[in-house]
Order: sequence, then C-alpha cells, then structure tokens
Amino acid sequence: MCEFSFENVYGKLGSGFAEAHHVVPLGQLRDKVKTRVEDLITVCGNCHRMLHRMPGKRDDATKLNRAIRKA
Ligand SMILES: [Zn+2]
Ligand SMILES: [Zn+2]
Repeated sequence: MCEFSFENVYGKLGSGFAEAHHVVPLGQLRDKVKTRVEDLITVCGNCHRMLHRMPGKRDDATKLNRAIRKA
C-alpha cells in the first residue's frame, strides 16, 4: 500500500511483519464464514487504521491507494 517496510525501520524485529485486513469487514458478514486468503490484504499499521476510518466497502483499499499516490 504505502510501501512502508517494517524491516527497514525496525530491522530484524520488523522482518516479515504486516497486519492483515479483511476486505469485507467482519461485522458485515453473516454467521460463520471461513476467511479466505483472497479476503485479506496485508498492510502496515497506519494504512490499517486508515482503512478502518473508511466506509467498509470492497474498494476501500483501492481508494486508499489512490489517496496515498495523490498525497
Ligand atoms: Zn482491518
Ligand atoms: Zn502503510
């Protein structure tokens, strides 16, 4: 997303670190659904928080990406 590298900043400690975000918010899903890999995107903590400030739609990630490119 923003190309932040935890490893570059935190060294070994941050190596391989990222947060997983559900493209469709769990609160919007009915009953038990299995999480599929396609439903997750990996983002840094900052982008993750920003995603959760957005409406919770499938294209949030695309929009956030665009917002980052513009900023
Ligand atoms: Zn999330
Ligand atoms: Zn980020």
